[in-house]
Amino acid sequence: MRAIWLDRHGGPEVLEVSRRPDPAPGPTDALIDVKACGINHLDLWVRRGGPRGFPIPLILGSDAAGVVRSAPASSRLRPGDEVVIYPAEGCGGCPACARGDEQLCVDYKIYGAWRDGGLAERMALPARNCLPKPESLDFVAAAAVAINYITAWHMLTARAGLKPGETVLIQAAGSGVSTAAIQIARFLGARVIATSSTPQKLEHAKRCGADAALNYRSDDVPARVKDITSGLGADVVLDHVGAATWEADLHSLAKGGRLVFCGATTGPEGKVNLSHLYFKGQTILGSTMGTREELRTVLALMERGCFRPVVDRVLSLEEIQEAHRVVEAGQQTGKVVVRI
Ligand SMILES: [Zn+2]
Repeated sequence: MRAIWLDRHGGPEVLEVSRRPDPAPGPTDALIDVKACGINHLDLWVRRGGPRGFPIPLILGSDAAGVVRSAPASSRLRPGDEVVIYPAEGCGGCPACARGDEQLCVDYKIYGAWRDGGLAERMALPARNCLPKPESLDFVAAAAVAINYITAWHMLTARAGLKPGETVLIQAAGSGVSTAAIQIARFLGARVIATSSTPQKLEHAKRCGADAALNYRSDDVPARVKDITSGLGADVVLDHVGAATWEADLHSLAKGGRLVFCGATTGPEGKVNLSHLYFKGQTILGSTMGTREELRTVLALMERGCFRPVVDRVLSLEEIQEAHRVVEAGQQTGKVVVRI
């Protein structure tokens, strides 16, 4: 089969289409024909290598959608079923796995990062990781869902406990997670203030449902958030930028506010004034990925038309280098998806 087989770290130029043997499904695995696979920032980290020690060689790609080719008789899957994959698996035996918090498993493996992923014509994975694709989404749209939407859903619901009527500040609105977060926060009945750096991305944020859009290069974000919230600040701040936005995040937060973050692309260190934090009763929350059940919930809401993924562009497997360059340059508003 054709696959993006990463056998050395480096820039986009190390990516090429290789011939690989078809995967051999285990006794509880399904084999799927992949139709599309979304590109995440995680793909870039894996390609570059680095401190997290991603094991290579492996097949890249996390967010796959496709058609079941074969499945164990014990599963509910049948050949021909159209599926979206939950893009990771835990050990199944630790306390986190037992309570359904697989993403906190000591041995959590995201596909395309710690084991073979979905940028390939075929993929074998546990049958329970194959969830029904909403009929309202084609394969390209379905491949733009999993990581972004479960990450944003988990941040806003399980972690920050966003309530109707609250105000949420969402940083870097052009990204996949932030796009999902704007839609989800609106669906949950919150007021959304989004930030970005270009007029095009601010327009994108408004189209996704943001009530207000601020330019974090030219606006004083905390001051504007205070203006919009009658001096109170945002009840929830959602971020994945890291060092560059950390101070503005804390200064934008209301008393009792929750700051939830799932990334640190501009640097992993930030200062915290502990006196402000305790006196204002604020909470800082880390978050990563989401659960299989959360993906099921998000897909059901998409089937009902509550929100839908935004696809920036569709490229072919042969255009994988360009796909990485676009995401690396942050040129996209929405998801870059590779059609297999
Ligand atoms: Zn586990």
